[in-house]
Amino acid sequence: MLNPKIMIWKECDQRIRTALHRFERRWRPSSSEKHTIRLIEELIDPALRTYSEELPRSRVKYIPGIGSGGTLSGLLRKYDFETMLRIQRHQLISFGSTANTGNSIDRTIESTLETLIGLTDACLRKTVQKAIIPETPLRNGRLQGLWEHKFCKFCGNLAEYTAVLEGIVEIDFHPPKANRESKTLRLSTGYCGKHRPLQHDNTWSLEYQKAKRSAAQFQVELLRLTRQSRALQLGLAQSGDKLIDAYIYLDVLKHGFRSGDEAELRNHARLLVDNKLTDQKKKMVILRFLGLSLQAIAPLVGVKSRQAVSKALGSMKSEFLELPIPASFSRNFEYP
Ligand SMILES: [Zn+2]
Repeated sequence: MLNPKIMIWKECDQRIRTALHRFERRWRPSSSEKHTIRLIEELIDPALRTYSEELPRSRVKYIPGIGSGGTLSGLLRKYDFETMLRIQRHQLISFGSTANTGNSIDRTIESTLETLIGLTDACLRKTVQKAIIPETPLRNGRLQGLWEHKFCKFCGNLAEYTAVLEGIVEIDFHPPKANRESKTLRLSTGYCGKHRPLQHDNTWSLEYQKAKRSAAQFQVELLRLTRQSRALQLGLAQSGDKLIDAYIYLDVLKHGFRSGDEAELRNHARLLVDNKLTDQKKKMVILRFLGLSLQAIAPLVGVKSRQAVSKALGSMKSEFLELPIPASFSRNFEYP
């Protein structure tokens, strides 16, 4: 297993960039949380300190750890990675509201804060990965570990078996009557109640059939949403198309998804797929936001006429058309 790569933002301070590369080289998948924090103390703290010394006083307060007169490693010892991630996001947002994007010092701070969020996120992901190694071997041979089956394959609900074990769903158990056959209750380990192939009344689920047909698209949307939810920056979805990336960015912004919101992200991916929000439609919505006429949109999304564009947009539920457009979006987004 490779060490998780930390995404380093374009204008991140050079010394912190170098420190992160050294951190990546020394970090091992087997590193404990303690060891990880020690590495941060040894490599990242000094770089952050040197960097902060050059910053105007009004800006130092946004640097995690240094801003409160301590160190990043010190904060990580005090809080866990998950709490730190929230604190850092909060700092980034409050910095964003005062930052001047025309100023290169502020742009560097922004990129550096984003990069440090990536560091905490990577540490969190790794510790999470370790934490979900099953501890209790279950007797049922098909189950390698409970947490592998945490979510339904097709959405953000817990798989039935997990939901029952966690006490989230209660089941009624009616003991068999003397003159009736007894019935074994079988809980799905891979699907929620809605998506399990064979329903409890022995009918085949149409939702399962539908979700199975769109399984690949579900994975695509989930991956894009997951990437974009790591930070509030345009283009993280990496769909390969600027317009689709923009749609995902605004959609994530609208719903306030953050990395780690796994259930919400899965449910949202399901919603997009179930509502047939194709890439073509996503592009249309963004082009419309950019002020293009239906006539001009048609050739850009590969449809024949303005009527076809109009029909496609008209078929969409309004919740998919209403997206917030922050000032930074209009400033940063250029098309083509
Ligand atoms: Zn499901």
